Amino acid sequence: MTDVLVKVNLNESPYDNENIHNRWHPDIPMTTYVKSGDDFILECYDWTGGQIKNDDSAEDVRDVDLTQVHFLSGPIGVEGAKPGDLLEVDILDIGTFDNSQWGFNGFFSKYNGGGFLTEHFPEAQKSIWDFNGIFTKSRHIPNVEFAGIIHPGLIGTLPSHDLLQKWNEREQALVDTNPDRVPVLANMPFAKTAHMGKMTGADKDKAAAEAARTVPPREHGGNCDIKDLTKGAKIYFPVYVDGAGLSVGDLHFSQGDGEITFCGAIEMAGWIHLRVKVVKDGMEKYAIKNPIFKPSPLTPNYKDYLIFEGISVDEEGTQHYLDVNVAYRQAVLNAINYLKKFGYSGAQAYSLLGCAPVQGHISGVVDVPNACATLWVPTEIFDFDINPGSEQKVDNDIDDKGKFVIDLPLAPNPPKLK
Ligand code: ZN
Repeated sequence: MTDVLVKVNLNESPYDNENIHNRWHPDIPMTTYVKSGDDFILECYDWTGGQIKNDDSAEDVRDVDLTQVHFLSGPIGVEGAKPGDLLEVDILDIGTFDNSQWGFNGFFSKYNGGGFLTEHFPEAQKSIWDFNGIFTKSRHIPNVEFAGIIHPGLIGTLPSHDLLQKWNEREQALVDTNPDRVPVLANMPFAKTAHMGKMTGADKDKAAAEAARTVPPREHGGNCDIKDLTKGAKIYFPVYVDGAGLSVGDLHFSQGDGEITFCGAIEMAGWIHLRVKVVKDGMEKYAIKNPIFKPSPLTPNYKDYLIFEGISVDEEGTQHYLDVNVAYRQAVLNAINYLKKFGYSGAQAYSLLGCAPVQGHISGVVDVPNACATLWVPTEIFDFDINPGSEQKVDNDIDDKGKFVIDLPLAPNPPKLK
């Protein structure tokens, strides 16, 4: 029997579980130690620690406390791992809990988190996804069903003190360029809602004041949101502290490349089965600065895609120089506008592109002045023909107030913010 090293109770606050933490800091004590070659299971809260409910209101998404995220399970110490080594991690399996067969996706309010298209969707909305074995569909988005490629959005090793300091300095310098920006340019340490695992007292207070937030991906991995890190994948992490300190959370039932909606993929609570092995001195030996990984032998089997192009000319027609972010945004907007012609609301299309296994590719970055990004939408996730030439539409109606009968619930921003 494989040991379950971290257990969670979804009816309890993650703050009451000392094997959970929501910040990165080298002094967070290891949950427990394993040996190189061991395998084990970690149970995980959803990334918000249960703040989002399985209901038809988006108020929880609008009012979410983002200073609490992400709740991670661990850190797991690996005996013999030293700074400069690599930690090889096999994802052996990932699954859902019997009593939690659902997940959520949403867009945050522009004034509380935002997202990739926050200028187009400034108000909080959410979609709920029900799981049926490996498949999922949403009561808020008609005529789609697809297989989940379950993966951890966030997995990484503990930073050293030096690395933590480097993160805080460079992110603060960015924030200082525009401290009042909405949404913020980066999330700086915030002690009040820090959960530092087993730490207590003055040690905890000191560490919490400088511990890094978990929002961005960094050199140690972290919140990379790579949809391909599913069961069967293998990751090599840099090791920065004795024991490595592997933590994981933010499990996704499915996600499109880019996790464009930010809240986020199809977010879920669940468990992950891992195996770890130390590769001595691997960082220097293989020039590893950021993690590298190998894909799973199990990959999605979609053969047909509609592929949307975007170039680095923004919505106002302004020319940008080889800006991949602008180009990908245009590809996404082009896909949304296309799906709207088949009867989807804009919110449904946006949510779907955040949840379904769509591929994002950087196609060209040298043909000045335009970068070209492409968004690949698998046509087989729809139960009707969405190709050009089709006259079919989704099963949805518009009521006498001009609203879609089936749509994502929306929670308006407070009037003072509009
Ligand atoms: Zn996530």
